[in-house]
Amino acid sequence: MILKLCNKCGKPCAYPAKYCDVCLPDVLAAREAREAETKARADKAYNSRRDPKYVRFYRSKPWRMLSARYMQDHAWTCERCGGLAVEVHHMQPIQTPEGWERRFDVTNLKAVCVDCHNKEHNRFQSKAKRSQRL
Ligand SMILES: [Zn+2]
Ligand SMILES: [Zn+2]
Ligand SMILES: [Zn+2]
Repeated sequence: MILKLCNKCGKPCAYPAKYCDVCLPDVLAAREAREAETKARADKAYNSRRDPKYVRFYRSKPWRMLSARYMQDHAWTCERCGGLAVEVHHMQPIQTPEGWERRFDVTNLKAVCVDCHNKEHNRFQSKAKRSQRL
């Protein structure tokens, strides 16, 4: 039988196990806890984006009418780069109390192209900020 040393306590254990029988349950439990925590964090970010309150708002008739009119008023031109705008961005994110107050306030809006919208939200740069999209 080939013996290996336990990665945790250094005692010999049967190959191909990386840990001895004593350490293995500990190691597995720790790994499970870590995975559960990572998942909980991802769910939380996901849910804040998918919060029905905001989903409903973006689908609502008043918002769709306002954003369509805003786009028309700005001739579908990106206010950052002059390209073709496709989305209306809230400068003060509606996920914040102030942004929510100003969700229909045109001075809080900006017509943006996809690229500029990503830049506004720093998508692809910071995971923390990505959770505040739209
Ligand atoms: Zn061990
Ligand atoms: Zn742009
Ligand atoms: Zn936005």
